[in-house]
Amino acid sequence: MKVHLASLGCKLNQSEMESLQAQLEAAGWELSPAHEADVIVLNTCAVTAEAARKSRQALRRLRAEAPGAHLVATGCYAELWPQEVEAAARPDSVVGNRDKARLADLLHAQFPGVAATVRKRRAAPAWPRTRAFVKIQDGCDNACAYCVVHIARGPSRSLPADGVVAQVREAAEAGRKEVVLTGVNIGAYGLDTGGPDLGDLIGRILAETAVPRIRLSSVEPWSFREEWLALWADPRLCPHFHLPLQSGSDAVLRRMNRPCSAGDFLRLVETIRHSLPDAAITTDIIVGFPGETEADHRATLALAERAGFARAHVFPFSPRPGTPAASMSDAVPRDEVLRRAAELRALGARLAAVYAQRFVGRTMDVLWEQSPRGGIWTGLTVNYLRVRAQGDGLGNRILPARLVGMERGGIVGVVVSSFR
Ligand code: SF4
Repeated sequence: MKVHLASLGCKLNQSEMESLQAQLEAAGWELSPAHEADVIVLNTCAVTAEAARKSRQALRRLRAEAPGAHLVATGCYAELWPQEVEAAARPDSVVGNRDKARLADLLHAQFPGVAATVRKRRAAPAWPRTRAFVKIQDGCDNACAYCVVHIARGPSRSLPADGVVAQVREAAEAGRKEVVLTGVNIGAYGLDTGGPDLGDLIGRILAETAVPRIRLSSVEPWSFREEWLALWADPRLCPHFHLPLQSGSDAVLRRMNRPCSAGDFLRLVETIRHSLPDAAITTDIIVGFPGETEADHRATLALAERAGFARAHVFPFSPRPGTPAASMSDAVPRDEVLRRAAELRALGARLAAVYAQRFVGRTMDVLWEQSPRGGIWTGLTVNYLRVRAQGDGLGNRILPARLVGMERGGIVGVVVSSFR
C-alpha cells in the first residue's frame, strides 16, 4: 500500500506527520506522490481564515489528483469544522485531534494486509530531512481572544521526558543534524505534570544525546524563565528565540487576553540580548485586531524597532468563529488592516536585513539542507540566517561558510572547508 502524507500550518503538524510516517513505514507502507497513493492523509490548519481556505483547497486538489484514494482529513480544521471539510472534498474519514495519535493504528485496522503483503523496500528512515521536528507537548491552557488552536487542541499535555529524549536520540542516530522541539505552548512543558520543566528537558537532551543542534520552536514570552538561559552555554543549543509578540500596545494585548505586557516583552528581549548578544529573536504579530488604533499600531512599530527582530511574521487579523475576538466591536477596516500589515512587513524586512548584515564578514557553521539547483545550496546558521553557497555534496552536513555579502534579502556564503 502506498500512502501520501501532507501537512499545512505549524511545525507541530509537521512533527505529527513525520511521526506517522515513521510508524507507517515501519509497518510496511510505502510513501508515494499523491497521484499514486492508495491512502492520503492531510493534516489541516485553522489558525487563520487563510489557513482554513488553504486546507479546503489542498483537500480538493488531493481528491482531484487521486480520485480513487482513501482520503483522510485530520488536524485543527478537521477537528473544528468537519462539515466544511466534508463539503470541500468528501474525505473518506475525518479524524479529530484527539484521535490523531492513533492514526497509524486506525489505518492498520482499516488496511490489515499491509505488513503481510508489502515488502519493506528500505529500512524505515525515522526522519525524512536534515531537521527533525520532535513533539514535546500539545494543547494550551491560555485563552488568547483570537485563538482557535487552544480550542482545537485542548488543555496542555506534556509528553513524557524519557520518550522525548529517546526520540531525539533516534533522530540523531538516523543522521539528523538538528532537532526542533515543538508543541502548541512548549514553555508550559511540565506544568501539567509537576515534573521536569522545559529547562530540565533541554538539559537532559543535551546530556543524554549527541544531536549536533537543538532548536526551540515558538515559546510564549511569559513562560520563558530567565534561568534557562544558562543552558545556551552549550553551543549545540541554537541561539534563536521565537517569541510571539502579537501587539506592541498594552491596550491591545489586554483585549487579546495575552498575559504579557509590551514592557515585559522588551525586558525579556533585553535579558536574552544581555547574555546572548548575537541571538536571533523572531516573532509573530497580528495586525488590525478589533479596536486597534493608529497609536496602537505605532506602538507595535516602535517595539519591533527596539526589539530588532531578525524576522517578523505579520498576520492581518481574521476573526475565527467561536473565539471572543470574532464578536468584538470596532473592527478595523480591511484596507486599513492591509496598509498597517504592509508597513509592518516593510519594517520587518528592514530589521531582518540589518540583523543579517551584522554577520557579513564572519565565518559561521551552516547546516546545508536544500537540494542544489545549479550547484547552489542553502542552509541555516544556528541563529537562523539562511545562507546560499556554491558547493558539492553539502547535503545534511554542518560546514563553515564565510559570509561574504547580501543578495536578494539572503546571505551569500563561501564554504571554507569540506573536511568535517
Ligand atoms: S498561548 Fe494563546 S495563541 Fe498560543 S495556543 Fe495558547 S491560547 Fe493560542
